[in-house]
Amino acid sequence: MKMERRDFLSKAAIASAATLFSTNSLLSATYPAKEKLGIALVGLGYYSTDLLAPALQLTEKAYLAGIVTGTPSKAETWKKKYNIPEKNIYNYQNFDQIANNPDIDVVYVVLPPSMHREFVVRAAKAGKHVFCEKPMAPSVADCEAMIKACADNKVKLAIGYRCQHDPNIQAYMQVAKEQKFGKVKMVTSAAGYFDGRTNHWKQNKALGGGVMGDMGVYALQGARLATGEEPISVIAQASTTRPEIYKEVEETMMFLLEFPSGARASCQTSFGINMNYLQVNYEKGWLKMEPQSGYNGNKGSMSDGTLINFTIKSQQAKQMDEDCMAIMAGTNLIAPGEEGLRDIRVVEAIYKSVQTGRLVKI
Ligand code: NAD
Repeated sequence: MKMERRDFLSKAAIASAATLFSTNSLLSATYPAKEKLGIALVGLGYYSTDLLAPALQLTEKAYLAGIVTGTPSKAETWKKKYNIPEKNIYNYQNFDQIANNPDIDVVYVVLPPSMHREFVVRAAKAGKHVFCEKPMAPSVADCEAMIKACADNKVKLAIGYRCQHDPNIQAYMQVAKEQKFGKVKMVTSAAGYFDGRTNHWKQNKALGGGVMGDMGVYALQGARLATGEEPISVIAQASTTRPEIYKEVEETMMFLLEFPSGARASCQTSFGINMNYLQVNYEKGWLKMEPQSGYNGNKGSMSDGTLINFTIKSQQAKQMDEDCMAIMAGTNLIAPGEEGLRDIRVVEAIYKSVQTGRLVKI
């Protein structure tokens, strides 16, 4: 039996029509001349180059308006490839002048995690809305400062949680909300890949490396989104099979979460193992996703035969379009700064548990 796909789609159509209607009425008040918001990508590494810039060629409410880079040769390449005007190209030093550039509505921070706070705060002070990649920042204090800077400057802050815009992930979140199979009893959630690099920021503590903030947030989100609850305690263990590479940060993290309803989750994340799945056992059934947090192809099944298998053209395009529509309409973002903070609160507790060897209350 297929999921109530038509139901889901028709509800989605009604919701998006409603959003468009309110977008248009508010657009005239706040963005009279803009059909699309101009996005400036900060940091032109793998994710900007391979995923975000291509996705910005598919977006309907956003376009690639500018770039911020520390590498002049990248600026030249991007300028030609994406037809970016010279006046919309910044480096890390002159970035604050972006405040005077009406082409840029949103600054998207795609740097190593330790740099997220500085650039989010600078973007907010420049009066620009901000998208920030995951993990939001290395500490709860950083996340709180970023949320405050955006609130103080009356700009929106969205975290790049692309999966939360994916209808396949929304489908299993809905199962928890409706309690379709009763209460959640146990979640098993894994997200990892084999990273062959030996000297990248992901292996550097000062730059915000370590698997927990990286792939770990997908394992954690699997548990949080499948239960619809926030964990109240955690016990964790870090390990590595390559101590010559993972000298400062963990290669693998395993953690057990307890939720207020009594549900438990067993989660694993690694830079040494290819794995990506979610299993949820409820009082009266089960749900499985594999993969659970891919760029595409996330899919699953349930114990009553229901399949989850929606196709979308680009998760990242959908994410940026939906976030831009929320900005234009003044409506809630799907994954605001507070959602990034919820994860980092758990990540901090996980590291505390590793240090102390004890269960940590959250
Ligand atoms: P990357 O190493 O490929 O790129 C990082 C960029 O930051 C490079 O352009 C680099 O030049 C620049 N940079 C500036 N100062 C630096 C410094 N001191 N050290 C290292 N790089 C510096 O990394 P990436 O994979 O593109 O990741 C960037 C961000 O995007 C991270 O927060 C990462 O977690 C996130 N990301 C998210 C997803 C997702 O699916 N949402 C996927 C990949 C990466």
